[in-house]
This record gives sequence, structure tokens and C-alpha cells, in this order.
Amino acid sequence: MPLRVPFSPPRIDEESIAAVSAVLRSGWITTGPQTRAFEQALTAYTKVQETVCVNSASAGLELALRWYGVGPGDEVIVPAYTYAASANVVLHCGAKVVFVDSREDFNLDPEKVRQAITPATKVIMSVDIGGWPCDYDALYAVVEDSEIRRLFQPKTEAQEKLGRILLLADAAHSLGASYKGKITGSLADITIFSFHAVKNLTTAEGGAICLQLPPAFDANEIARTLRIKSLHGQSRDALSKMNSPQWRYDIIEPGYKCNMTDIQAALGLVELARYEDSHLPHRKKIMEKYDAAFGQDARFELPLWQNNESHSSYHLYMLRLNKATEAQRDTIIQSIFEEEVAVNVHFVPLPLMSLYQKMDYKIEDYPLAWCNFRREISLPVYFDLTEEMQGLVIESVRKAVDKHLPAE
Ligand SMILES: *Cc1c(COP(=O)(O)O)cnc(C)c1O
Repeated sequence: MPLRVPFSPPRIDEESIAAVSAVLRSGWITTGPQTRAFEQALTAYTKVQETVCVNSASAGLELALRWYGVGPGDEVIVPAYTYAASANVVLHCGAKVVFVDSREDFNLDPEKVRQAITPATKVIMSVDIGGWPCDYDALYAVVEDSEIRRLFQPKTEAQEKLGRILLLADAAHSLGASYKGKITGSLADITIFSFHAVKNLTTAEGGAICLQLPPAFDANEIARTLRIKSLHGQSRDALSKMNSPQWRYDIIEPGYKCNMTDIQAALGLVELARYEDSHLPHRKKIMEKYDAAFGQDARFELPLWQNNESHSSYHLYMLRLNKATEAQRDTIIQSIFEEEVAVNVHFVPLPLMSLYQKMDYKIEDYPLAWCNFRREISLPVYFDLTEEMQGLVIESVRKAVDKHLPAE
């Protein structure tokens, strides 16, 4: 039975369906003109040097780590409070995950990042949780600090050229967010977006790598390298081979297979064209309404999603219950579901996952991430959420909290 309010359905309408149908009828369905157009549109929107689309953010994160030459013996700093993709890709590369605790706003604590750096640190992966940008000035101050630069031990040409720790943003949640007047994409050296089905802008599955590297790097050349890496190390892609009598190609490295298809890109182009003027304002309005509904009640702690410097991409409304135990939070979620309203929890900190427990990470070392998680309930935010549906969410949350967390 469908719920009265689902958690995060994609925004799909006749325009998206027509765009996909047109690609299906065109005779070219894998990486081609739509993907290139989507990359160019993303480059313009995020004001970056270059964009390469791939089939997921996970693949994008891994390609970026591999391009930088991250491997065995290296360490990558990752927030304890994130989705597993952020850390798992570090393991794929054979490097060590170094978890760092959060701040009150769910994001990485730059001071704790600084303390976690060793001579083996190659990358800091910042995650803009819920769409709220990390403190990028503070993170750049860390990687550019002269003492921290002196610790850095470059092993590859790219590492030599950068001469410091790479700032890699996992911006799976934060397309369109801004920090001190700059939009996500341009905030870190490399930024990865996700277009997975539950994300703000979706292509069913998909991701993008945005480059904003210092002038010593040729972003155009790196984008070319990343495209080759995303397609088996093949020197020329399928479309350019198809359209010329020059059928010969070379394989120059054991690349991966994670290119985006034109079917996905067609969806992305429709979504991006209406993202800033229609999609984001709608999500923002939903967040304002939740703030108004829960802001006066001391049992709730509202998420930070805008201030003088930053605004969120309004991806997740991460409400916290003051003074609730984990068991109370779980009971409250159960009661909300009984009203046929879907809510969620973002995220179970990774040190609590059995994979990472077996690797000897201890949740006690990440007290803020743990405390944030135990009290958190994410409320539905999406384009097709009507005022009436949002009213139901607010009502069912209030009712469940009244029942299980009575006011003092
Ligand atoms: C969804 C998500 C990812 C992974 O995105 P995919 O496109 O599914 O690979 C990475 N990081 C975070 C924080 C996410 O929420």
C-alpha cells in the first residue's frame, strides 16, 4: 500500500518523459551529445573549469581519488557522519579511512580535521551533509597551512604539482548550495555531485566530477584523462569511432566502466533547466514551513540551512529531538509511519556499521556524530510535496512527539 506521504519520489513529468523518449528514438542512447550538453550546462551552472559526467557519485569519487594517485599507505580524511559511499571508495583504492567527528551542523569539524592529519594524508573529503556547505575557508586554511604542507609527502605527478592535501568535496547533497557568494562545485579542488534517484536533481543514477584546480593544472586535459578512465582506458569514445572511418583505437590503461548514458543526461538537462528557478525555491519554502512549525517548541532542534554566509541546497530537513534517547526517536518514527507518513534517518555514522567496526573504528571516538544520529529524524522535502501533504507530516510528527516525548 502506498504511503500518504512518501519520503523522496523523483520529480518526473511529461517534460522528462518526452526528453527520454526523444533520446530513445534518436538512434544514440549511450554517452554522446546529451551527455556533453549536460556537462557543459553543469560547468556553466557551477562556474567550474570542467565537468565530467559518470554513472554515479561513487564512481566519480573513486575516479578522482585514483586520478590523484591515492593507494596503499595513504590516508583519506572522511567524516564519520556520512553515507557509506564516501568511505567505501577509499577502501577500493587500498587506502586508509581516517574518520573525523562532526560539528553541531552535522558537517566536518575543521579543527578536528587538522588534528587528524599525518604525513600519509593525501585527501580531505568534505561532505555537505543535507545540502549545507562545509566551512571551506577553514578547510583551505588547513590544507594550505605551511606546517601541514611541510608534512605532505607527494608520490605522484599530480600530488607533486598540487604540493598539498587535495580537497575533494562529496557534494552528493549540495548542488546549488552556496558559501560566501560561491556556488558548490567551485568551492573545492574537485567536487562530486550525485544524481541518484533520491537526490535533488536526478537522472535515476548518475554523477558528475567538477574540476576547479589551481592554475598549474590543465583542467581540460584532466577531464580528458577522467573520461578515458571512465571508459576502459580507451583512447577514443564510442561516438567518435562511430562517426568516422577511423575505427582504430588504443587502450592506454586498465580503466573502469562508469560513463553516463544519453538517456540519463537527457533527464539531467530537463532537471537542470528548471532547478534554480523552480526546484530550489520550492524546497526552500518547505524548509521554511517546517521551521515555522517546530521552531517554537523546545523539544526540537532545527537544522541550520541558511545564515549570512551560506544557503543550503535544501536537500534534507534534518530535525533533531532534544533530550530524546535513541529508543524514543525510533518509537517516534514508528508512530509517524503508522500515520502513513515516511520519514528517515540520515545517517547511521559509519563507525557503527559492522564493516567499520570489524576494522576497529569505535563510535566513542566520534561523540558528536553519535549524538546527532541518535536524535535525528529527516522529514520529507521534494518538489511534489504539496502543502496538504506537508501538513500531514507536521501533524504526525507533533502527535508522535506528544505521545513519546511529553513536554516538561
Ligand atoms: C548518495 C550519496 C553518495 C553516493 O551517490 P551515488 O550517486 O549513489 O553513488 C555519496 N555520498 C553521499 C553523502 C550520498 O548521500
